[in-house]
This record gives sequence, structure tokens and C-alpha cells, in this order.
Amino acid sequence: MEKNFIDQQKKRLLTEQTELKARLSRIAKKDPNVKGDYDAKFPSYAANEEVDRNYENALEVEDYTNAIGVENILELRLAAVERALERIEKGSYGTCSHCKKEQPQARLEADPAAERCLDCGKLV
Ligand SMILES: [Zn+2]
Repeated sequence: MEKNFIDQQKKRLLTEQTELKARLSRIAKKDPNVKGDYDAKFPSYAANEEVDRNYENALEVEDYTNAIGVENILELRLAAVERALERIEKGSYGTCSHCKKEQPQARLEADPAAERCLDCGKLV
């Protein structure tokens, strides 16, 4: 794996990490007890006499459910990005975590956080 390529991938991963953290902090508060864990914020709408209370509750629940779904996706992606950054630090970046073969650059260009080569990715 060329150093230039790894440097470029590291930049992309760091940018993505920053973006993911910013998005997560907008929809979730960081759980102070668990490293890397975020809890979706439960939205609260100001009581409004015009708004039927049931409708308001339904809205809150729906937004909360959406936030949990999005939050999980962002959280998983952030974890994958951070594992990729760790692999760069350890010098194992680009090696398939399953068959230990070096992954083609095109695969890593498509997804800088890819842990497995395409063949092993299919096994999951
Ligand atoms: Zn593999």
C-alpha cells in the first residue's frame, strides 16, 4: 500500500469522522458512560392548545424512532471509520480482516473504511 494513498485515505476518513460526529451531536447526546455511544434525544414540542395532545405525542414518538434509526446507522459508520483510522496507525490498513490479503485500492477508494475485501464481504 503506497504511503500517499494511505495519507489520502486518512484525510477522507478524518473528514468523514468529523462530519459524522457533527451529525450525531445534532440528533443525539453523547452517553457519558459509554465511549462512542450516543443516545437519541427525545424531542419535546411545546404544548400548544391548538395541537391535539395525542397528535403531538405521536409526532414525538415518530421523531424519536427516526432519530434512533439514523443514530444507529451514523454510530455504526463512525465506529467503522474509527477502526479504519486505527488500522492506519497500526500499519494494517488495506489488509482484509478475514483472509488477510491486501485489498485492491479501488475497493478502498469506494469505501475508505472497508474492512474486508469484496469476496470476504460477501460472506457476511
Ligand atoms: Zn478477504
